[in-house]
Amino acid sequence: MKPIEELYNQLTEPKNIVITFHQKPDADAMGSGLGLYHFLIQLGHNVTVISPTNWAAFLNWMPDAKKVIDFDAARANAVNKLTEAEWIFCLDFNTLSRTKNMESELASSSAIKILIDHHKEPQIEAFDYGISKPDKSSTAEMVYDFIVGSGNDNKINIEIAQCLYAGVMTDTGSFKFDSTTPSVHLMVARLMQTGFDHSKVHEHLFENFLENRYRFFGNTLLNRMEIFYEYNTALIVIPQQDLIKYEIKTGDTEGLVNFPLSIRGIKLAAIIIDRGDERKSSFRSKGDFDVNLFARKYFNGGGHFHAAGGRNIEPLDEVVRKFKTAMRENKSILE
Ligand code: 5GP
Ligand code: MN
Repeated sequence: MKPIEELYNQLTEPKNIVITFHQKPDADAMGSGLGLYHFLIQLGHNVTVISPTNWAAFLNWMPDAKKVIDFDAARANAVNKLTEAEWIFCLDFNTLSRTKNMESELASSSAIKILIDHHKEPQIEAFDYGISKPDKSSTAEMVYDFIVGSGNDNKINIEIAQCLYAGVMTDTGSFKFDSTTPSVHLMVARLMQTGFDHSKVHEHLFENFLENRYRFFGNTLLNRMEIFYEYNTALIVIPQQDLIKYEIKTGDTEGLVNFPLSIRGIKLAAIIIDRGDERKSSFRSKGDFDVNLFARKYFNGGGHFHAAGGRNIEPLDEVVRKFKTAMRENKSILE
């Protein structure tokens, strides 16, 4: 993987470009994708954003979110765009497997693949150019660095600002996590100079849910959460029937894992959701417990030190058993 800076002088030649990111994109994936889109179209490129799967409705306010192609739902169109692409930007993921059903299309594509990501241990042989910085707050911040680094600060408009703000704000837990460096605040200051309404972005992302999501949260916290005080650990297990009963859609479970993490003394919070085709887990930690390692070792996953996730194909009760065994094995770090 060659340094991304080597592409700066090729940015002025118009190209067919695809931008993609990890499956079930969060605000950082979608925000960095659309932020980059609004930058590249100003340079005259023909740009298509492809999401490997569907996404949460609370991301649809982002400018031109309606133009994003869902690979799962419109495969022929997406494959066509991938075939025509000369460059493919891969954002907010470290391994091609994070693009789920798109993995083989990406792996076999002859386009130049460019990584911009902040997860540890990137699969560098899969990318031609790129930048991987696990200490960065968000991929949105890295897209900002790319725009500024390539000498295009003057291209930062209100569309770019809204998208990148959404990414950096959510990935820093509203500017709370350790990753919130002075550069993050300097970037936000620059974005705010465009005059976008930052309160509106918070409203779109956090105050736009349906009643059923809170009924579901209530039931989950009352009936589906177990606390293991001797391990300073909390576990939420969601059977598929709950998702059906409360009409839970993509994105509705985001943030749920933070509730048990805010219980006094809890160092590790986990949620395991039976999505039907797979068991999706999310892990959050405080202090010296590394959930990236934990997710890698036991749950085919990864992420960051304090926030990670994984996927399993085994049945729910087996994944739960696996979690409890893993928790016991880590007692000395969790105590
Ligand atoms: P979340 O729990 O919100 O889905 O994800 C938390 C963090 O872990 C994110 O940085 C995300 O990219 C990463 N992550 C979530 N699921 C997986 C997974 O299945 N594999 C890997 N490698 N990372 C994941
Ligand atoms: Mn991210």
